[in-house]
Amino acid sequence: MKCYECGKAEMEVLQGIHEYEVAGLPYPVVLVGVPIERCSACGEETVTIPDPEGLHRLLALNIVEADRPLLPEEVRFLRKLLDKSAEDMANVMGVDAKTLSRWENGKQKMGKVAERLLRLLIHQKLAPESATFAEDVFPRLHDEGEAGPVKFSPSDGGWNQAA
Ligand SMILES: [Zn+2]
Repeated sequence: MKCYECGKAEMEVLQGIHEYEVAGLPYPVVLVGVPIERCSACGEETVTIPDPEGLHRLLALNIVEADRPLLPEEVRFLRKLLDKSAEDMANVMGVDAKTLSRWENGKQKMGKVAERLLRLLIHQKLAPESATFAEDVFPRLHDEGEAGPVKFSPSDGGWNQAA
């Protein structure tokens, strides 16, 4: 296929590394080995992200299993993943919508119990077969810690965490 931008060269397809911007998360989500089409004439690149829903699910599981506090941007990402409005989510969590909004914009720190409830809601939705999530993960949560870049690569029919 000729480059749709300049029309001068065929697009070549390679497996590459792509920094994926998702839901305003403040750290890089690095996709390793995704198909990238590149034009040798003008440098135009198109990245194809296979199974984006699967990627978002893995990212969400990664977040709720992280042993450091959730970031405000992650709280919003997780709510969107549940496909809930702020009002509906606030109802589920047992708080008012203003409180949820302050958690999501970083103006108020989420309490430990509320944070664990959110993690549990997400995990139950994405991995309902794992009944021991809370007892496995909650005891090792820390009050501090940096959110790092995360790396994923596509595999047959899904996504895996990459080294
Ligand atoms: Zn081109």
